[in-house]
Amino acid sequence: MIKPGKLIVISGPSGVGKTTIYEEIKKLVPNIKRVVTTTTRLVRTNEVNGIDYYFIKPEEFKQKIERDEFLEYAIYSNNFYGTTKQEVFNAMKLGMNVILILDIQGAMNIKKIYPDALFIFLKTTNLDILRRRLILRGTDNEEEIARRLKRAETELKYESEYDYIIINDILSVAAQEFKKIIEN
Ligand code: ADP
Ligand code: 5GP
Repeated sequence: MIKPGKLIVISGPSGVGKTTIYEEIKKLVPNIKRVVTTTTRLVRTNEVNGIDYYFIKPEEFKQKIERDEFLEYAIYSNNFYGTTKQEVFNAMKLGMNVILILDIQGAMNIKKIYPDALFIFLKTTNLDILRRRLILRGTDNEEEIARRLKRAETELKYESEYDYIIINDILSVAAQEFKKIIEN
């Protein structure tokens, strides 16, 4: 039986499959809602404004910081990413299991505000798998992939800060593990 209203934070290196696994989980677990966060990075070809992110200009992002609209925000690979209070509070009010897909900085900031949230770290067995996934995804150029892989090395040092570590080598296995954790 699912207890509604859990706050679940997912982190993991770029290309590990955070977005993909969320799409799988959605099919397996009802009553789940991913918070749409806000970013200044360029929209990828398969992304839709308002569904994948709210894509805004840096000036607009800075205005939102000044108006204290973010629960947390971070700079990742030269772009701003932030979680608006409004998106999180609205999802929580609905009594849904709320999913936040954040980088390490964001997750650690949420931990200070909501220490009882569930923190899940996704990884692959090695960096080569990540590299291949980023290349196959085809959304980032070589320089950006190198930057993300470099960052992955640092990010992996933080896995002990998380309640659960899931290895996403085989998607169906990882998704089932995820489901078990959420429904526990
Ligand atoms: P993230 O959101 O963590 O950056 P994505 O969900 O965009 O990562 O996944 C990166 C790429 O890896 C995508 O092309 C996706 O289809 C692929 N992928 C994700 N999980 C797996 C998996 N378990 N096995 C093989 N490919 C995967
Ligand atoms: P990407 O550019 O690959 O979509 O995302 C880069 C990183 O930013 C990922 O680790 C993603 O989880 C994280 N991210 C997305 N939205 C937010 C946010 O609102 N805050 C923080 N701190 N990180 C975010």
